[in-house]
Amino acid sequence: MNKYIKKVLNGLKEKNINESEYLQAVEEVLTSIEPVINNHPEYEKIALLERMIEPERIITFRVPYVNDKGQTIVHRGYRVQFSSLIGPYKGGLRFHPSVNQSIIKFLGFEQIFKNALTGLPIGGAKGGSDFDPKGKSDDEIMRFCQSFMTELQHHIGADIDVPAGDIGVGEREIGYLFGQYKRIKNRYEGGVLTGKGLSYGGSLVRKEATGFGLIYFMREMLAHNNQTLEGKTVTISGAGNVAIYACQKALEYGANVVAMSDSTGCIYDKNGIDLQLIKQIKEVERGRIYEYQKVHPQAEYIECKEADSPIWEIKTDIALPCATQNEITLNSAKKLVENGVIAIGEGANMPCLKEATEYFLNNNILIAPAKAANAGGVAISAVEMSQNSMRYYLPFKNVDEKLNQIMINIFNSCKLASNEYHLEKNYVAGANIASFTKLANAMVAQGIV
Ligand code: NDP
Repeated sequence: MNKYIKKVLNGLKEKNINESEYLQAVEEVLTSIEPVINNHPEYEKIALLERMIEPERIITFRVPYVNDKGQTIVHRGYRVQFSSLIGPYKGGLRFHPSVNQSIIKFLGFEQIFKNALTGLPIGGAKGGSDFDPKGKSDDEIMRFCQSFMTELQHHIGADIDVPAGDIGVGEREIGYLFGQYKRIKNRYEGGVLTGKGLSYGGSLVRKEATGFGLIYFMREMLAHNNQTLEGKTVTISGAGNVAIYACQKALEYGANVVAMSDSTGCIYDKNGIDLQLIKQIKEVERGRIYEYQKVHPQAEYIECKEADSPIWEIKTDIALPCATQNEITLNSAKKLVENGVIAIGEGANMPCLKEATEYFLNNNILIAPAKAANAGGVAISAVEMSQNSMRYYLPFKNVDEKLNQIMINIFNSCKLASNEYHLEKNYVAGANIASFTKLANAMVAQGIV
């Protein structure tokens, strides 16, 4: 390994020994940009890597709220403002009990590279809380969001830091957060949050953007390898925002989606997933995926009992992990390869353990890496920000065309970068190299800050 990279990784491990997800994300990037670092020994003197992996600012705060039983509950809020190198801090908010500083730092770090790949002027950030929205009433969600924003508002703004949704934060939560921000600040600052409702500054296609974008990227990657989505069997983990709209677009392209999941288990419907029913259960009723069987008793429900999710045991051509980090273990990767998978499309952030990614690459499985393949959401968030600045709404077709073009551009950047370093078809390395190169040039230009 390049000596400079080794030194930086050792220093990082010493300082962040308990932050496994963050260490994993940084290691994945730094090891794959080795050929670029070999060509630029001057980066060491200006501590370019050390500055790139150290967040500009980490904010943690108390979030108290009163539940429906009248009890006061205290959660911890986070905002990691990782990099403002190429634009205002930008990245989603996650509400999930597993949230901790390591997870928010890994997500913020990934976001810098993802945002650079979009070609749009947005920096990198991430935030959230260990609050679990599952099973909470609308009133509880509203009170929690209001308390969260009462602190967060000190640190954000349309030209400073622009949060959006992520796991557990959708249009409902963004609405409550936006309402509280506006009330405290006494000004209508549309571009301070993205993923807003359409009636108050949201963008058409934002809801669909991450899932649609994933499939646009997959289409490009398959086409470059003489394949199409038509007639392919697809399995998709998760049944949230990303999973649902990836499913919709995959179906439009003629794929046969046979399985989807949530954190309790997965539904396997050989006849093809009934997406309208999934939308009804998840978007309207906020229910559990096993309820699918009430309408389609022929579908199989497999409970998730182990670290290896049962969804990856199902035979498929294309696997789309769209739930959470590290959901594909080495065992799951082996099972997928044994069953003949040809491509992995990462809708979730860092869904594959490092060993799983290596196993796929060693077996010539195509990987659409998260940084690139799920960048459609943040790209359309940036388009939402520009519509807010112009006080203007773009029609669905125009935004969808923009998304499609952005995903084509991102695929081409990954392809070109991997070819340049003779890593053909390794789009994981391609995504890291293309984004790193852009960021490194900006860092050099802006001096030691
Ligand atoms: P949602 O909250 O809408 O949906 C998440 C889905 O994943 C749910 O079905 C949830 O099941 C499942 N899930 C969450 N955590 C776990 C877990 N620990 N184990 C198993 N299943 C789990 O989130 P999104 O669809 O917005 O996000 C999904 C992924 O995509 C995340 O990795 C996110 O960072 C990434 N992403 C999202 C973007 C966006 O625009 N929304 C943009 C780019 C990336 P359950 O309901 O049972 O918890």
